[in-house]
Amino acid sequence: MAKVELKGITKVYSGNVLAVDKSNVTIEDREFCVFVGPSGCGKSTTLRMVAGLEDITAGELRIDGELMNDVPPKDRNIAMVFQDYALYPHMTVYDNMAYGLKIRKMDKNEIDRRVKEASRILDLDVFLDRKPKALSGGQRQRVAVGRAIVRSPKVFLFDEPLSNLDAKLRVQMRAEISGLHHRLNATMIYVTHDQVEAMTMGTKIVVMSEKRIQQIGAPLYLYNHPINKFVAGFIGTPPMNFFKLKIEEKDGKVVANEGSFTLVPTDDQQKYLKAYVGKEVTFGVRPENLKYQSAPAAENNMQLKVINKEPLGSSTHVFVQIQDARVVAIVAPDVTVQLGDTINFAPEMDKCKFFDLDTEINICEPDIEKTW
Ligand code: ADP
Repeated sequence: MAKVELKGITKVYSGNVLAVDKSNVTIEDREFCVFVGPSGCGKSTTLRMVAGLEDITAGELRIDGELMNDVPPKDRNIAMVFQDYALYPHMTVYDNMAYGLKIRKMDKNEIDRRVKEASRILDLDVFLDRKPKALSGGQRQRVAVGRAIVRSPKVFLFDEPLSNLDAKLRVQMRAEISGLHHRLNATMIYVTHDQVEAMTMGTKIVVMSEKRIQQIGAPLYLYNHPINKFVAGFIGTPPMNFFKLKIEEKDGKVVANEGSFTLVPTDDQQKYLKAYVGKEVTFGVRPENLKYQSAPAAENNMQLKVINKEPLGSSTHVFVQIQDARVVAIVAPDVTVQLGDTINFAPEMDKCKFFDLDTEINICEPDIEKTW
């Protein structure tokens, strides 16, 4: 059992630097919770407060109900895997994994059992006598994970553990860490700036920006129901396209006018957009929801000039200009378009979002679950 609760957790560094502003998150037992957000948003500071490496300025941290604010790191029953691995270069893989247990004066046979088991789980058996410099980046990363596993902690903390690896290895290690989560059945908290890591590994994602939690939810919930423009633009790749539309009333319907085309929101969306008649809103459409039309669509047709294209093999990214935005659409690879061509798209309106120009709140989904 390991449930981790952050209640109003706040960090102010000396010099009055606010790093984390009143975070409320409950990480359930055996959850894989990913904190994701751009650099400087407060992710690492949050993790370091859970680890006990930073004092908590205000709020409560509880593990299994027990208040942890003043419990020293070594007594919190957690293990942290760092970005730079922090391996001892003069020690073998075996000793790197055993060291933390030795200084806790654990029985030698028990240490041996734990190191062997961890190395088996991580496929490091044949490297136990090697020093870190004779290992690849991925193997070093696994040793760092092994050092955490031998401690059998209640909670694993990962601070951007894959950011020093090349793209291919990152994909492999992502799968390995997810697999490890299944096998160890442990609570894991993982920090990354990479939304793909968050989406592929997390069972729960905490999106942070500007020292604050923006939204918490399962990966696909965040993708389908972003609470605001920030989350909508941060989750999903290529990112959601944004441009402005003016909300108008026409023939008894609420429509969204770009100037060169007019979109008709769904009945449900119109209900919420009625209050915006006469005002501008930000429209959000994901590249996968902007559908290529071989002939102009009867409704919601957008006729636009191709300014760039990127054939990727499995699909082609087609770029058009709308206002000051370079808007990208994903089209099938057999669609032939040339730069300068004028082509037709139609957005799947039920998947598109409308955001308040000032607050950036998702206008048409006021019922998004809010747990923080
Ligand atoms: P992230 O992990 O999301 O990149 P951090 O948690 O490292 O962000 O940092 C959050 C904010 O706190 C940043 O503005 C950063 O400059 C500031 N910060 C981090 N560590 C310190 C520190 N030791 N002293 C003062 N400010 C810090």
